[in-house]
Amino acid sequence: MIFSKEKTILAYTVEKCPKCKKFHKRDFSEGDILFTNSSKCNFCDGITTIDKIFGTVLKK
Ligand SMILES: [Zn+2]
Repeated sequence: MIFSKEKTILAYTVEKCPKCKKFHKRDFSEGDILFTNSSKCNFCDGITTIDKIFGTVLKK
């Protein structure tokens, strides 16, 4: 087993629904681009847009 000193970055995507104004945080997935349409809103029938992408660094 190889132990690396690389940091682990956990990235999150925050989706915002323009219809009901709710925010939803989920794990970042490849291909997420800011301010593009994301997925269907869990609370209404709106389509959420990606409002924020941020990362948390986990130190080993
Ligand atoms: Zn909604």
